[in-house]
Amino acid sequence: MILNGSGTLYVAIIGAGPAGYYTAEAFAAKHDNVHVDIIDRLPTPYGLIRAGVAPDHQSIKNVALRYAATNEKDNVHFIGNLELGRDVSMEELQQLYDVVILATGAPKDRALGLEGEHLQGVYGSGSFVGWYNSHPDYRDLNPNLKTPTAVIIGNGNVAIDVARILAKTAQEMAETDLAPYAASEIHTSILKDIYIIGRRGPVEAAFTPKELGELNKLENCTPLFDPALLEAFEENTDLTVVQKKNLAILRDIAANKPEKDKIRLHLSFFQRPVAIEGDQSLTNILLEKTKLMPNGVEGTGHTAELKCGLLVSCIGYKASPIEGIPYDTRSGVYVSSDGHISGNLYCVGWARRGPTGTIGTNRPDGVGIADKILSEITPSGKAGRQGLDVLVQTRDLHTVSFANWKKIETAEQEATEGNAPRRKFTNIDKMIKIAES
Ligand SMILES: Cc1cc2nc3c(=O)[nH]c(=O)nc-3n(C[C@H](O)[C@H](O)[C@H](O)COP(=O)(O)OP(=O)(O)OC[C@H]3O[C@@H](n4cnc5c(N)ncnc54)[C@H](O)[C@@H]3O)c2cc1C
Repeated sequence: MILNGSGTLYVAIIGAGPAGYYTAEAFAAKHDNVHVDIIDRLPTPYGLIRAGVAPDHQSIKNVALRYAATNEKDNVHFIGNLELGRDVSMEELQQLYDVVILATGAPKDRALGLEGEHLQGVYGSGSFVGWYNSHPDYRDLNPNLKTPTAVIIGNGNVAIDVARILAKTAQEMAETDLAPYAASEIHTSILKDIYIIGRRGPVEAAFTPKELGELNKLENCTPLFDPALLEAFEENTDLTVVQKKNLAILRDIAANKPEKDKIRLHLSFFQRPVAIEGDQSLTNILLEKTKLMPNGVEGTGHTAELKCGLLVSCIGYKASPIEGIPYDTRSGVYVSSDGHISGNLYCVGWARRGPTGTIGTNRPDGVGIADKILSEITPSGKAGRQGLDVLVQTRDLHTVSFANWKKIETAEQEATEGNAPRRKFTNIDKMIKIAES
């Protein structure tokens, strides 16, 4: 494609996660006359591939190799440790670049909206998963694992990830990049019961069969499921392929019996938390039985108390509001028309559509936004990267190039013990020191 107008189109993508990389890849594939800078607040690229995807799912994390290849292109550059809003303003970026694309994901946990949510022992999955995945923001979360009972709210794969990471043994996690400080807490915990709690039934759950099936293969944990709930499945003649596969797995799980000395993982449905109680720390939650209604679920008024010391809510995420950028508080995304926010500002990935789909869903999203931009925006003689470099130098900011990120990556690989793929660093100053060595 030939750009209308002359000169280079300078594109700033904010966020080096899957959406940012697929968008950069699409621009680079379309022609050479585009210069793409992928900017991230962390010194490390890859967003949730590094800090969200479960540490025992290393094959999924291999998608980062594809993003690394995008960095090999002459016209694509990673700039780490540069945060929009902290180091550089939106206005400055919009003045320096022809196009600014928000690929900042949805890093904020959705709240349960219950009093007691602030108690110690209660966490959103963004922070809890970030903690065991070495995200620098959550290194010091210090969650309470000295409890026999953990409750996980939500019926998607993130809930299953959290349960599985809590339940797996040190041996099962040996070849993963689970944060060592999290490993020592988890593998010395006194957990006996883990509950995964869903407001709706097993038919409605958003688990995928691969993740659900893994629960029945854990060394030290027995998943349990009430066989009476199989009826709803069996009566339903409109099941999707995924639901049929989940049904087969749940039939197997329903045949399990609690085993002595193994963690019991209860798959509990038709319940919702209505109160989170404790003084400073969580001591118990109140669960209300629910029933399915045509437009969702309704409480039945029947409640039961469950004593627990750890609660992780896995009920979704929101984009971070940015001053001056229209934001839909209900859906938790920036307001856009097919990704166009206003002027030369666009959004893509979870920042555009919310936390849905798989990693791969971000690819067509990235291709679509690149096509849209190339049909709408022409180069206008902006300063682009040179202008940003001046700003970075004036402010004495320590940004990280892709070559310098590779130094951090190598140091993380060299810091491992045994067969772990890497030992991720959490201290940003330490990472910058390595990057600048
Ligand atoms: C716990 C968890 C497990 C998952 N597991 C899987 C899985 O197994 N398989 C699968 O297909 N999908 C999985 N997903 C979904 C997948 O991770 C997402 O589809 C994908 O990461 C979304 O990409 P994104 O680029 O929109 O956002 P992100 O990956 O969140 O990337 C956003 C980037 O923006 C950066 N950023 C944010 N704010 C700023 C700022 N102000 N300035 C500069 N940079 C900023 C962040 O540091 C981050 O690097 C999982 C998600 C979660 C939460």
